[in-house]
Amino acid sequence: MHELPVTQEMFSLVIKYAKSNNAKKINSIKLKIGALSTIIPENVKFYFEILSKNTIAEGARLLFEKKKSNAYCINCNKDFKIENLNLICPECGGENVFIKSDTEFIIKSITID
Ligand SMILES: [Zn+2]
Repeated sequence: MHELPVTQEMFSLVIKYAKSNNAKKINSIKLKIGALSTIIPENVKFYFEILSKNTIAEGARLLFEKKKSNAYCINCNKDFKIENLNLICPECGGENVFIKSDTEFIIKSITID
């Protein structure tokens, strides 16, 4: 359950942002997850609900967006995007594929009142 520390960090950033903008309520939070991240949105939602109880973030909607990762094929020197761990080059069907980006989890936007 590695979503807990990630959710805690996200939660404290969101609260900090909301407070510095004098928000009364946080309506929604848009999150971007790297294509190869092992973060499970349902688990983030679960922890977020617990953390946000009795705070201005209670009831905020979490919106998840999967981010594509950049990959590179060494057979045909091609760059392409991947959405999952299916590491096959779309050009040559080869498996000599490298992933260029990491497995990030970022806050994209926050809407507040
Ligand atoms: Zn290729």
